[in-house]
Amino acid sequence: MEKDRSSHVLFFPVPTQGHMNPMIKLAELLALTGFRITYLNTHHNHERLIKFTNIAAHYERYPGFEFKTITDGLPPDHPRSGHWFMEMYEEATEMKIKQGLREMLVNISPPVDCMIVDVFLVFALDVAGELGIPIVCFRTSSPCCFWTSYSIPAMIQAGELPIEDMDRLITTVPGMETHFRCRDLPSYCRAADMEDTFIKLVVNRTLKSVQANALILNTAEELEGPILSQIRTQCPNVYAIGPINALLKSRVDAKHGESYHHFSNTLLEENKSCISWLDKQPNRSVTYACFGSITSMSREQLIELWYGLVNSKSKFLLVVRPNSVIGKDGEEEDVVKELFDKAKDQGYIVDWAPQEAVLNHPAVGSFLTHSGWNSTLEVVVAGVPMICWPYFADQQVNNRVVSEVWKIGLEMKDVCDRKILEKMVKEVMVDRKEEFAKSAAEMAKLADQSVSVGGSSYSNLDRLIEDIKEMSL
Ligand code: UDP
Repeated sequence: MEKDRSSHVLFFPVPTQGHMNPMIKLAELLALTGFRITYLNTHHNHERLIKFTNIAAHYERYPGFEFKTITDGLPPDHPRSGHWFMEMYEEATEMKIKQGLREMLVNISPPVDCMIVDVFLVFALDVAGELGIPIVCFRTSSPCCFWTSYSIPAMIQAGELPIEDMDRLITTVPGMETHFRCRDLPSYCRAADMEDTFIKLVVNRTLKSVQANALILNTAEELEGPILSQIRTQCPNVYAIGPINALLKSRVDAKHGESYHHFSNTLLEENKSCISWLDKQPNRSVTYACFGSITSMSREQLIELWYGLVNSKSKFLLVVRPNSVIGKDGEEEDVVKELFDKAKDQGYIVDWAPQEAVLNHPAVGSFLTHSGWNSTLEVVVAGVPMICWPYFADQQVNNRVVSEVWKIGLEMKDVCDRKILEKMVKEVMVDRKEEFAKSAAEMAKLADQSVSVGGSSYSNLDRLIEDIKEMSL
């Protein structure tokens, strides 16, 4: 029998910028089609969203879109910087969050019909099971990393892990045999001990998401068809609905017109002065350098990067996040100021940028990136070539896809050297500029096709919507 109310979906993301961004975009996509949404933020993140965005005004336009907050299990005075979220996966902390989630679900009205949960919050699957709530997993990191993580037990069995030779091609990850070296495996595969707690955690959560009856991935058939086919051999019900930023834009534009304000769910204050600086630069003349929301680097690495950029003679916009340079307190500010003063005419530094606006600015000609999955998809959509300097987790895998599968950029893996960076920036910005611009434009076109009417991600979202409605009956 049809219910007399819209289906109620609860979203539960891992509370980092990179996990939260695709989740909240999917929540907005479902709200656009009339679903009732509860979006679960940690207390800490919600405070930051309220501080740095006009969140209430944006989501108020969707009747039935509600934010609720929950503990992240850590004390209020915890600094929550660097890899703090790893502490959330400790058993005692998970228990606290699990308890908060259960209480919320028992008391919420109207009851939740379906939960969309980040697969790293695996305990939510148990709570949903206890309460009989259908659940869909969302793996927000890259599908190629998901697939290599799934293959870790096979790699161990075949003796490919632990890694002995970084440049050896891997043979036990189906579909990736031709160009994935040990060096390109996710960073946690570099551990010497295969009993390492983090490897076990990743494998366990990957297997759980395969066992779940539905899995959402932020990619498109048009971009990663072969890997999706491999994943479907183990996990038949996959919804590939990416690039989700482009899908949201496509659906919002269709409903409200292109003048509709697109919202940034930022957890740090965006320094918009960089857009005015970009406005003054010639088309495709600037290298945008930004390394996501979690990476940190040493003072020496920052200086190498800086000189690589300066010596390339390219104009550049560099993001140095607060507390992202490892050193003594306050040292970071001094280094940044000192460097900034040295190259005022060539470069501009901010501590956090409105990234999607930057990538889509005509002045930007390349993106020096850590290869986080959101950044990778955002730049694919913008059609800008990349120089990849991966840091950890899925980034090593992602940049191999960028350089060897899509051929829209270069990778600077396991080195940080001003000469190499200078050479790469010149290659992308000058010597092979047209070649890279052409391949990046082709990829952007494929991304656009996937999110347009009749495209695979567009249709997969419709299928997801119908399936959630079915679950809610
Ligand atoms: N981001 C941003 N401004 C910045 C740096 C990053 O808005 O100065 C956003 C970026 O657009 C992306 C997210 O933060 O959506 C970072 O996610 P990603 O998966 O690229 O990397 P992570 O932070 O998870 O390592």
